[in-house]
Amino acid sequence: MELVSFLHMLKKLGLEVDEARRVALDKEPVMLHCVRCHAGYTEKDNGATACPVEHDVDDEGERVGPDEYEYTCSFCEEVGTEDGAGNGIDWENSVCYEATHTTDKQEVEYDSRTVLTCEENGCTRQERDTA
Ligand SMILES: [Zn+2]
Ligand SMILES: [Zn+2]
Ligand SMILES: [Zn+2]
Repeated sequence: MELVSFLHMLKKLGLEVDEARRVALDKEPVMLHCVRCHAGYTEKDNGATACPVEHDVDDEGERVGPDEYEYTCSFCEEVGTEDGAGNGIDWENSVCYEATHTTDKQEVEYDSRTVLTCEENGCTRQERDTA
């Protein structure tokens, strides 16, 4: 009788530890800062397409109509059209390429236009302000 209740207690304890560990993992995901898109993310949300990068246009559009312009992405060379100045460029693929969020700056190709460093984006300053 005593042994049975002892085993029962051990089992109950084990379940509680499992439950506590599960809850801790569920409720406190580690928030990471992506050094490519500068969004907060958790590894649970990360994936091959989690971090889309916009097309990179560095020059004036080429006028192809009365109020229509064409822009070429300097990275993937896709051509986007803008129907009316200031209306924004329409791309067939709305993102240039998709990547995974990362905290490793070595993995990111910075170009100071579409992909900014934390310093250029002002992240380090924000962190200091809220600290
Ligand atoms: Zn592109
Ligand atoms: Zn990202
Ligand atoms: Zn950042």
